[in-house]
Amino acid sequence: MRVHNFSAGPASLPLAVLERAQREFTDYAGSGMSVMEMSHRSSIFVEIAARAEANCRTLLSIPDDYAVLFLQGGATAQFAAVPQNLLPDGGKADYVNTGSWSTKAIKEAARYVDAREVASSKASNFDRIPPVADWALRPDAGYLHVCSNETIGGVQFQEFPATDVPLVVDMSSDIMSRPIDVSRFALIYAGAQKNLGPAGLTLVIVRRDLLDRGLGSVPSVLHYGTQAAADSMSNTPPTYAWYLVGLVFEWLLEQGGLAAIAERNERKAQLLYGLIDGSNFYRAPVQVEARSRMNVPFTLPDPELDAAFLAGADAAGLKNLKGHRSVGGMRASIYNAVGEDAVAALCDYMQDFERDHG
Ligand code: PMP
Repeated sequence: MRVHNFSAGPASLPLAVLERAQREFTDYAGSGMSVMEMSHRSSIFVEIAARAEANCRTLLSIPDDYAVLFLQGGATAQFAAVPQNLLPDGGKADYVNTGSWSTKAIKEAARYVDAREVASSKASNFDRIPPVADWALRPDAGYLHVCSNETIGGVQFQEFPATDVPLVVDMSSDIMSRPIDVSRFALIYAGAQKNLGPAGLTLVIVRRDLLDRGLGSVPSVLHYGTQAAADSMSNTPPTYAWYLVGLVFEWLLEQGGLAAIAERNERKAQLLYGLIDGSNFYRAPVQVEARSRMNVPFTLPDPELDAAFLAGADAAGLKNLKGHRSVGGMRASIYNAVGEDAVAALCDYMQDFERDHG
C-alpha cells in the first residue's frame, strides 16, 4: 500500500513514473539491460540524456543562450561551485539570508570569495523575506544570491527582485512547481530530490557567457565550462537519476506543463493554509506574503501534543510530518507529486485531531 508521503526530501515521486521505471527496470526498450547497467557513452543512454534536457528546456522555456547541466554533488556542491565559477580572485557576492539554506550557502561561499549577507530575516526567526528596499546591495558585487524556497522554514519568494547584478537562485525545493522567466536569472541550481526525481542529481541552468569565468582553481568536475563542453559527461554522470528525472519531465508535460502544475500546487496550498488560518488550534509561523507553496510548517497549541499528532497521522497513512529538528512543530511538504487527495486526507486528519484535542 502507498502512503501519503509529506517528506521534505528525498520526497514523493509520481506513482506513474515509478511504475514505468519498474516496467523498464531490467530491460530498457528492448536493450536487454537496465539503464543503470549502460555506458553513459552508449547511444541509447545519450538519447535518454538528450531527451531529458530537451524536455527540461520545453518545461521551463529555457532560452538557447543557457546551458543545462546534470551534475552530481547536490545543491551543497553548488554552494561552493557558484562562487568559484562566477567570481575572480577577491570577487564579491551578495547574499540574502531567509533561512537555514541561505545561511549554509553564505558560509560556504565565504570560504572562497568576499560573500556578504546584505539582508536577513533572522531577527524575526526567518518568518519573511526582508523588504527589498532594505537590502544593502553592493553595486560592484559579481552576483546576488537568493534561495527561492527555504525548505525548512517554509519561506518562498513569490516574486523575484529586479537586480542590476546577475541573480543566482537556489531553487532546490520549488523548481518546476510554477512557471518562471529563466531570462531573469544568471544561474539557477536545484538538487533533484524534491520536485525532480531521486537524490544524486543536481540541475544547473546557467547563462553561457558565465561558463568560463571564475577562479582557475575550480575543480574540473564542478567547472561549468568543462561540464557544458562535455554535455555534463566530463566524468560519469548519475545515469539512473538522470533517466528518472527524464521520466518526471515527461510526466510533467503530460500533466499540462508548469502552468497546470502551479494551479494544482496553489489549490493544495490554499486548502492547507485555509484550514490552519480558519482554526484557533493550528498556527503557521510564516507571514502570509512569504508562505511557501511547497513546505508548510505549522505548530499545535502545545508541543506536548506533537507526539500524539504524529502517531495518529502515521496510523492514518500520513507520513513524515515532523518539522525539522531546528524549528520543531510540523511540516507538510506538498511537492508536485503530492496529490490533492493527499492534502485533503491531511486536512481531514487535522480537523479530527483538533476536534479531539482542541
Ligand atoms: N538548498 C535547499 C533549498 C535545500 O532544500 C537543500 C536540501 N534539503 C539543499 C540546498 C542542500 O541540498 P543537498 O543535500 O542535495 O546538497
